[in-house]
Amino acid sequence: MAMDLTSSLDVIKGVGSTLAGKFAALGLKTAEDLIDFYPRRYEDYSEVTTIANLRPGPVTIEAKIIQASGRYVRRGMHITEAIASDGTASVRLVWFNQPYRASGLKAGASYYISGNYELSRQRFAIMNPSAELASDFPVNTARILPIYKLTKGLTSKQIRKITKELVPLMRWLPEMLPDWIIKGQKLMPLAEAIEMIHFPSSSKKLGEARQRLGFEEVFNLSLASQLVKKELAKELAPIIKFDEKLAKRFVANLPFKLTSDQRKTAWRILQDLEKTQPMNRLVEGDVGSGKTVVAAMAAALAMKQGFQTALMAPTEILAKQHAETLTKSLAPLDFDKKVSLLVGSMKPNQKKETHKRLATGDCQLIIGTHALISEDIDFKKLALVIIDEQHRFGVDQRQKLQKKAGHAVHTLSLTATPIPRSLALVVYGELDVSILAEKPPGRQPVITEIISPNSRQQLYEKAKEELNSGRQMFVVCPLISESEVLDANSAEKIYEQFSKKDFKNYKIGLLHGQMKAVDKEKIMTDFVAGELDILVSTTVIEVGVDVPNASVMLIEAPERFGLAQIHQLRGRVGRGSEQGYCYLLMSDSKAPSRRLRALESSSDGFKLAELDLEIRGPGALYGQMQSGQLDLRVANLTDIKLITSARNAASEFINRNERLADYPALNSKIKKLQAITSLN
Ligand code: ADP
Ligand code: MG
Repeated sequence: MAMDLTSSLDVIKGVGSTLAGKFAALGLKTAEDLIDFYPRRYEDYSEVTTIANLRPGPVTIEAKIIQASGRYVRRGMHITEAIASDGTASVRLVWFNQPYRASGLKAGASYYISGNYELSRQRFAIMNPSAELASDFPVNTARILPIYKLTKGLTSKQIRKITKELVPLMRWLPEMLPDWIIKGQKLMPLAEAIEMIHFPSSSKKLGEARQRLGFEEVFNLSLASQLVKKELAKELAPIIKFDEKLAKRFVANLPFKLTSDQRKTAWRILQDLEKTQPMNRLVEGDVGSGKTVVAAMAAALAMKQGFQTALMAPTEILAKQHAETLTKSLAPLDFDKKVSLLVGSMKPNQKKETHKRLATGDCQLIIGTHALISEDIDFKKLALVIIDEQHRFGVDQRQKLQKKAGHAVHTLSLTATPIPRSLALVVYGELDVSILAEKPPGRQPVITEIISPNSRQQLYEKAKEELNSGRQMFVVCPLISESEVLDANSAEKIYEQFSKKDFKNYKIGLLHGQMKAVDKEKIMTDFVAGELDILVSTTVIEVGVDVPNASVMLIEAPERFGLAQIHQLRGRVGRGSEQGYCYLLMSDSKAPSRRLRALESSSDGFKLAELDLEIRGPGALYGQMQSGQLDLRVANLTDIKLITSARNAASEFINRNERLADYPALNSKIKKLQAITSLN
């Protein structure tokens, strides 16, 4: 059979159109797709035991079938029983509803038999085992078994059977990485690593395969982002000169003293702006750490030099809040007249006026939503782009705004998603990162408590005390409406219960992602204005809107959220002078996990994110970062040693003046990655 990586799966022996359809449902069409479809986990059946030594649990024996027979026991229920013997003893094998079993077993032939050894009707037996002739390349027995992600009607057994046909192809896979890296890092060659990830011959080999593939994932990402960074450095952005007098005046007029992290970060930014090399900096800081003022200072300097700045925020209400606070903080410098707002809900003639002011340069700081990119705007002298809550925007949206200048611009991104250092190194490779770790003084941490469902009513009484003294409450639910699969309270259900029963004397709003943008804005505006006491929502409220009067955050089914996410949510309360409370209302009365307990004791967003990464893996954090496409399936992202050595190898690749074109397979991987990793 002439087969190559591009061959479609139906040329493989045993793959008909039905099976091919099931593979296609998993996105698997070609041989390469299937080779690239790594197992999710493994079950170790590699140790072959004698029957005399069998212990309950997963077992493998090598034995001959003495007898086998099947019968129907009840209507529709079939049972096959067989006796296997290996000379030390014999054992009963039992299969349910596999009527073809008995006739498929050759008497006297030697089989590997793997399954669970357990009690069945008072007698021990190996239940529903897999059996393969010991003379074959076993794929379902006597080895570390790959377990794949399943889809309806496709089993790991079927996947193994087809993947086994690709083993010869795997063995011919060309090496992707330069020889000096393979040797220097003592990596397993790619061909072997791929075979071992599907059909590990031992747990040691599996470990080496994972090491190799994990290294490659991080290496590829690092190389892609380092190359982007190098290209970017060649572009020319306008120089924004540092004006010390102006900076001092700006700071002196603030109603507070900057924290030392804010000062350090501002200082870095001001230095970046003085270069022609475009700034590409991310400021990471917990909710309330004071990122806005740092951005405002950068904008002020740009304005002083006659340049324009565009600040994009993910929602209208946030854009409006920014416009208000920035206008205020720029007023002492007489820049307040140069600030404008651009959001979708503005009237056409208001928008037109703003467009005109941008084109003439009369407006020097434009604050807006997606309207900034969806509308046809001409800037006179755009030099600085600020993206607030940057994880809420896609790469293409950010790039669209940057391109409005017609030349390279400086970019400042702000995010409240605390990303552990190890992960940031990989995912944000080409960005410079500043961290606001220190909170402005005087902030009391939000008091966080895990509440058992039995105490729901008591909790409501406590919440009412807050509401009665004029405070407001957020309620966040994991779902919009009732679901058949998840047994958790939905926003709609809670809204109804609260309105009709538990909080019927209070004004309640409902907010979720499926509502129209205008309706969302309306509800949010009402809540900010204090016209609603309670806001029941999904996580759409995560974004940094300031509601200083809100003091209670009630989270339904907290076990469904990431720690970093809950941490961000609770950052919404206690922003004013009042103490904030966060209640985690469990969906059942089981003991809460160590993970959730951490929220009660820690108010450090970075620590919590690291815990998330450790316990739930990068997916828990990626989701929020909108970079789920990043190809990190094997690498352990808490393994700082692996990350460092892979990053260093990528730098060395560049320093050696290696040419990507000399490594075609690597080259095409890198090109693909560059399209998605430019988180600039
Ligand atoms: P975030 O980082 O979440 O965007 P903001 O920039 O909205 O935070 O700041 C939150 C609040 O803290 C604002 O009301 C702001 O005026 C205030 N603030 C910022 N920096 C300081 C500081 N150094 N001292 C006191 N309050 C500050
Ligand atoms: Mg903010």
